[in-house]
Amino acid sequence: MTKGAHTVDIRIQGSEVITGRSLGESCGIVALAESVPVGYRLIQSLRIIQHRGQESAGISISTGKSLKNYRGMGLVNEVFSGVKIEKDIGMGIGHIRYSTAGSSTIENAQPLFANIGKYQIAMGHNGEIVNAIQLKRSLESKGYSFATNSDTEVIMKLLSIELSKTDDPILSMKSAFKKLVGAYSLNIMINQRVFVARDPNGIRPLVVGTTEFGYCAASESVVFDQLNGKVIRDVKPGEIVEIKKNEIDSFMYNEGARTAHCMFEYVYFARPDSVLDTRSVFETRMELGRILARESPVEDGDCVVAVPDSARTHAQGYAEESGIPLTEGLIKNRYVDRTFIMPEQTGRENELDIKLNPIKQLIDGKKVILIDDSIIRGNTTRKIVRLLKKYGAKEVHLRIACPPVRYPCYLGIDMKTKDQFIAANRSIKEINTKLGADSLSYISLEGLIEATHQGREKLCLGCLTGKYPVKVANH
Ligand code: SF4
Repeated sequence: MTKGAHTVDIRIQGSEVITGRSLGESCGIVALAESVPVGYRLIQSLRIIQHRGQESAGISISTGKSLKNYRGMGLVNEVFSGVKIEKDIGMGIGHIRYSTAGSSTIENAQPLFANIGKYQIAMGHNGEIVNAIQLKRSLESKGYSFATNSDTEVIMKLLSIELSKTDDPILSMKSAFKKLVGAYSLNIMINQRVFVARDPNGIRPLVVGTTEFGYCAASESVVFDQLNGKVIRDVKPGEIVEIKKNEIDSFMYNEGARTAHCMFEYVYFARPDSVLDTRSVFETRMELGRILARESPVEDGDCVVAVPDSARTHAQGYAEESGIPLTEGLIKNRYVDRTFIMPEQTGRENELDIKLNPIKQLIDGKKVILIDDSIIRGNTTRKIVRLLKKYGAKEVHLRIACPPVRYPCYLGIDMKTKDQFIAANRSIKEINTKLGADSLSYISLEGLIEATHQGREKLCLGCLTGKYPVKVANH
């Protein structure tokens, strides 16, 4: 562990992975202002949304006079186990990260922290700034230097430049954010004040609520459930919210952009017990399953099997609609991380081997309807189809609750290279030849939109259609 004046970098031996990619990240954030010490409550909150990032974790808390920043590589439990946290004042922010790009090193772990004149700033970011490289080059040409390859540092730098000009946190955030293009849900501490902000398209989720002891903001509503609090509302696209112990204050900085919530949060990324932009993720997934069953029935199917755990709810919806029983045909090793979220391909493939095992008694001789939430690379799906057949399945019919992912995500989900996608340049028939199932169907785009209850005009569907809510580079 190394200690600086205001930052504690908790280094866990062997946990650093250098991916050597460019700017950008996607993660989970929380912010608390309460009448009790918040350090351990922030850590608890991060554990609740651990699924949003498993590479690093950090918190920044007020000690009354200054900010103290703790961050480290690994899961929240690993980073904070045995670490003594300041107990003074009830105000702070927390962050968990997985890199959609940018090195997975402690330098890029968040909250990022900076001393700028009379200001101390801590910042956590969920999303990805599309014009980060241009902004960074422009700042470098003016003599500014950067310590990380994270797009969050670009936001920090813009904010600190504005702060030195205006001496007003709200005005500074407003002007800094207007320069950004992309997806960002942010939590920020400027000295003893806590803010959250959401990009003008509302791409990544962000919710504000109360707790037993004050006010809170988080990437997902499930944090309030588990802190004995309740949701007040979603942060509006283009809004800054100041989180205080007794109230929240709202400042709009950019209205009128098209709302574009990420459809993938509903399909896969968020927890099923969260409510995002007033729509239950659980209900959405049930509806996706029901629609899929109506659109792509399997005649004389014997059982519906979910790819655990992420497709459980979709499979429940399919079973309910089709009347075909849902069976626990695949058992997941609970101690293996989610494969999609791991940054290195080799890691992903090794993990798959020990991740899932079928129950032979449930699938032997059966016509299995296998439900998955989505297919990105197809590695997992291909292996599962093979496994089910090896364990005696008579037929395997794949039904997928998200239309084919054919285009990269530039807005905060780790899907960068088109070549990674099994559906990129293939027909459904060609995809299924690779996967080896007896049939393959995806839900329609209209079916997906219907299930989210958001309307086509309020969703980002970029990775499905190639049409993004903001201008993205190289496209
Ligand atoms: S491109 Fe896809 S994954 Fe990325 S924000 Fe849009 S819908 Fe979400």
